[in-house]
Amino acid sequence: MTPDEATRKMQFLFQLRSKGVTDQRVLKAMEVIDRGAFVQGHFATRAYEDMPLPIASGQTISQPSVVGLMTQALGVQPRDTVLEIGTGSGYQAAILSELARRVYTIDRFRTLTREAEIRFTQLGLTNITVLTGDGSFGLPEQGPFDRILVTAAAEDPPGPLLQQLKPGGVMVVPVGQSDAVQSLIKVTRREDASGFDYEELLPVRFVPLIDGLPRD
Ligand code: SAH
Repeated sequence: MTPDEATRKMQFLFQLRSKGVTDQRVLKAMEVIDRGAFVQGHFATRAYEDMPLPIASGQTISQPSVVGLMTQALGVQPRDTVLEIGTGSGYQAAILSELARRVYTIDRFRTLTREAEIRFTQLGLTNITVLTGDGSFGLPEQGPFDRILVTAAAEDPPGPLLQQLKPGGVMVVPVGQSDAVQSLIKVTRREDASGFDYEELLPVRFVPLIDGLPRD
C-alpha cells in the first residue's frame, strides 16, 4: 500500500465512524473490501467519497456510510445465511460475505449480476451466489434466511421476504411511497414466530424496487 492509499483508507474509515458506523466487524469488512473495485470509469476516482455513484443499467452503488449503517443494523453473525435483494455493483454483497457464512444476492439486470460475479471471482469471494431475477419473491428454495437486506426501496416490506425470515431473523429494508421520502426499517421476526417488530432507523434515498425483469 502506498502512503497515499493508506491515507485514503484512513479517511474512508474515519468518515464511516463519524457517520455512526462503530461496529468493529463492519468497519473491518469495509476496510478489507475495496470500494474502488466496484466503481468503473471516471467515477472510480470518487470511490472513497461518501456519496452514491452511478453504475451500469442506470442504477447506483449506495453511499458507503449508508452501506455501513445498514450492515450494522442487520447484525450479521458468522454462521448466518444472508439474502440480499439488489446486487447492483456487488459492493454490499462483498461486505456481507466477510461477515456471514453464505450470501445469496439477486438483481433484475443480467448485466449487473454478470459483472458482480466476475468481481467476486477476481476478489476470491467464494461464498456468494449471484442470481438474476425479481427479488421481491425472495428465494424460497434456499430459505428461510437469518438475515435479509433489501437495497432498493419498497412501498412496504414485501410479504414473501417476511415469510422467508427465520424466527429471530432480521430484515433491513428502505420503505417509502416516493423517491423523496423513504425510511430505513429494521424488521425482526419474533422467536415464537407470532409476528414481527418494526423499528424505524433513518431517512434514506434508494432506487425503487421494481417488479418483473427488464429486457437487457
Ligand atoms: N446493493 C447495491 C446497490 C443497489 S442499487 C450495491 O452495493 O452496489 C438497487 C438495485 O436493486 C439495482 O441494481 C436494481 O436493479 C435492483 N432491483 C430493483 N428492483 C429489483 C427487484 N425486484 N429484484 C431484484 N433487484 C432489483
